[in-house]
Amino acid sequence: MKTQTVLTSRKPQPGTMLIIDDDAGIRGLIRSVAERQGFEVTDCGRSEDAADAAEERAPAVITLDLSMPGCDGIEVLRQLSAKRIRARIYLISGLCKRVLATASDLAHTLDLDVAGTLRKPFDIAQLRALLAEEWRFEKVLTAADLRHGIERGELVVHYQPRVKRHGERWVISGVEALCRWQHAQHGLVMPDAFIPIAERSGAIGALTNYVLRETIEQLARWEAAGHRLTASVNISGALLGDLELPDRLATMLSTHGLTPDRLILEITETAAMADPALTMDILTRLRVKGFDVAMDDFGIGFSSMQHLFRLPFSELKIDKSFVLEISKSANARTLVSALVELAHNFDMSACAEGIEDEDILGFLTDAGCDTGQGFLFSPAVPEQELIGLIESDAFSTSQDKVPHSA
Ligand code: C2E
Ligand code: MG
Ligand code: MG
Repeated sequence: MKTQTVLTSRKPQPGTMLIIDDDAGIRGLIRSVAERQGFEVTDCGRSEDAADAAEERAPAVITLDLSMPGCDGIEVLRQLSAKRIRARIYLISGLCKRVLATASDLAHTLDLDVAGTLRKPFDIAQLRALLAEEWRFEKVLTAADLRHGIERGELVVHYQPRVKRHGERWVISGVEALCRWQHAQHGLVMPDAFIPIAERSGAIGALTNYVLRETIEQLARWEAAGHRLTASVNISGALLGDLELPDRLATMLSTHGLTPDRLILEITETAAMADPALTMDILTRLRVKGFDVAMDDFGIGFSSMQHLFRLPFSELKIDKSFVLEISKSANARTLVSALVELAHNFDMSACAEGIEDEDILGFLTDAGCDTGQGFLFSPAVPEQELIGLIESDAFSTSQDKVPHSA
């Protein structure tokens, strides 16, 4: 299955680089310096393929040669902008400084993130210094760091309340489990910085099992304290090849006296969901067993209408990038309303992420959105703080949301 609907691009993958240059010698040179620094490097020798490569690989850093046969670097900049590529870009050219400066200005007006320019011929020390700085900028964490972090028990799970609409009122019905890494040097590291590493290195299975175990145990503890909540857990598309998953999950829950309807599995699509038959098999079995399955981050990256049409999702999560625009953009309002309707027509519930203010909440109430989460209610918090939030009045707003009801 290929990308069908890309409204904004995928998040850049930390520690990855794409070299776009028609000169094989330069590609080899940049690659050797970047790999020594620790970057995971891919390259592209044809300018015509550059924008697709950037979209597919979502690199954190791009080096782009401005003078290439076929379509030139300026045209490539336009294409990168059209695909909303979010990498930090270094422009490279043998032409005079003024051309580089103008190209850089143009890229800024196209909303691209130009990190610097390099004039050919450049010496290796200059390139090395620049890439070392870039590496520090990214605070890149490696797969080995993550493995050790998991072994040392440095992963923690925080919980963001999810609210459900009852007419005009919004009530806490559950949480989304969101993983953080309590790193010895970097402090609390957010998932965008390490989930991609986990996916690339194969550690995502161990990470997900940890989050599932923690969350299910937590659900049981909340239940014992009189709070009947559901929990949403993020399952990487990369794990949907595991045929044992539905049975394993059901067993984990029943061990704690819980039923599958307490867990919502949020699937973020990745290129790894390449086997539609297998994905359909696993998702269908999850649904048959009584789990809810949500399509996360709908509208960005790999999410596609085709998946929505063919796979048995029970919830559509509208990506926060659209929800956050609701107050400012008529297009965002049209899109979000249409997505709520689309979800309902497909027999799914609609969930909005990124509810940051009352205006957004009011709009979603009118649009008939079913569930949501956002900083208006609470960010993700450690487990000890959640009960306090539920029991306090922190959730009352002018729209008369009430605290948790079982
Ligand atoms: P997600 O699953 O889409 O989770 C929602 C993200 O939006 C969370 O970011 C949450 O803190 C943030 N958010 C919620 N409400 C608001 C709001 O009102 N405004 C804004 N600006 N942001 C809001 P977080 O915790 O940084 O997680 C980022 C992503 O990392 C998650 O996106 C998910 O894709 C991934 N992730 C987190 N934990 C796990 C995990 O255990 N496994 C996997 N595979 N991925 C995970
Ligand atoms: Mg999610
Ligand atoms: Mg999401």
